[in-house]
Amino acid sequence: MSDKHFKVIIIGAGPAGYTAAIYAARADLKPILLEGSQPGGQLTITTEVENYPGFPHGIMGPELMAHFREQAARFGTELRPETVAAVDFSTRPFKIFSTEDIYTGDTVIVASGARALLLDLPGEKRLMGYGVSACATCDGFFFRGKRIAVVGGGDSAMEEANFLTKFAEKVTVIHRRDTLRASKIMQRRAMANPKIEFMWNTTVVDVLGEPSTGIRALRLKSTVDGSEREWPIQGLFLAIGHKPNTEFLQGQVETDEAGYIITTPGTTKTSVEGVFAAGDVQDHVYRQAITAAGTGCMAAIEAERWLEAQHAGQ
Ligand code: NAP
Repeated sequence: MSDKHFKVIIIGAGPAGYTAAIYAARADLKPILLEGSQPGGQLTITTEVENYPGFPHGIMGPELMAHFREQAARFGTELRPETVAAVDFSTRPFKIFSTEDIYTGDTVIVASGARALLLDLPGEKRLMGYGVSACATCDGFFFRGKRIAVVGGGDSAMEEANFLTKFAEKVTVIHRRDTLRASKIMQRRAMANPKIEFMWNTTVVDVLGEPSTGIRALRLKSTVDGSEREWPIQGLFLAIGHKPNTEFLQGQVETDEAGYIITTPGTTKTSVEGVFAAGDVQDHVYRQAITAAGTGCMAAIEAERWLEAQHAGQ
């Protein structure tokens, strides 16, 4: 077997990819994991993770991912800091073209994740995890009794705003137009919530504050007359949509309209036999580290069983 051929190739270094690697490596499948340029995925841009079971006192996102990585390496996963540029799933073995090399694999597990869309504000990245968040389920708890803003007018914004009222004193939905994109039922629910108020025809042009003290204000701009003002607030949640990292697949597995990989319900099987998908790249509903890890485990077990079935059929 060539040193470029693997039984299992895993694409993506988040909770799903590393968990798939732990299981595949312990099954003696000697997987390779192509980690891309930001090992750890979305958890590396969060601060404290309090809802990952097994860490009763919480753990920092980057530290949690370092543990995942170490555990994958411990059982012999080959970890390479390469980004996948293209794939060829039309014939077996499958071909993976990374920035450095070309690999062939009997099975592939796609765990390349998704990214929350950001506003590209000057202060946004600096304050991510320090008052700015793109995940209410992850970070809402830290905003107990505070005044916070949610940007967006879709179902995600309504859902996040409603969820955040469990903690926050007041939630203001800031939307760039005067009508919402969200479904009527979600709109009604948000509008009936006494803790939610709406700020229409407004965009956020900057977020002000320091990582040490959190955010103190937003710089807002009216889409009607272009006027700008500073508005005091303690938290900013971005809910303007997510994008799955599936560009490199170039349509070689079936995806939905938004680009998420479609898997057979209850499994990680994709439209291509022998190719499995795990984590946020196939999940736009839960988007949690624990669910991503769960589907990563499923993908490795399914890949192992698929390889066994292929072998038995030969
Ligand atoms: P979405 O439907 O694409 O809505 C994104 C919102 O963000 C829109 O209101 C958009 O404004 C606003 N936006 C986008 N870019 C912006 C920018 N640069 N500055 C300011 N505002 C910006 O995304 P989503 O809400 O994440 O929903 C994605 C899909 O998941 C939808 O199909 C949705 O129905 C579904 N979903 C369903 C549920 C549920 O049923 N429980 C929950 C969440 C999501 P405009 O309206 O002006 O374009």
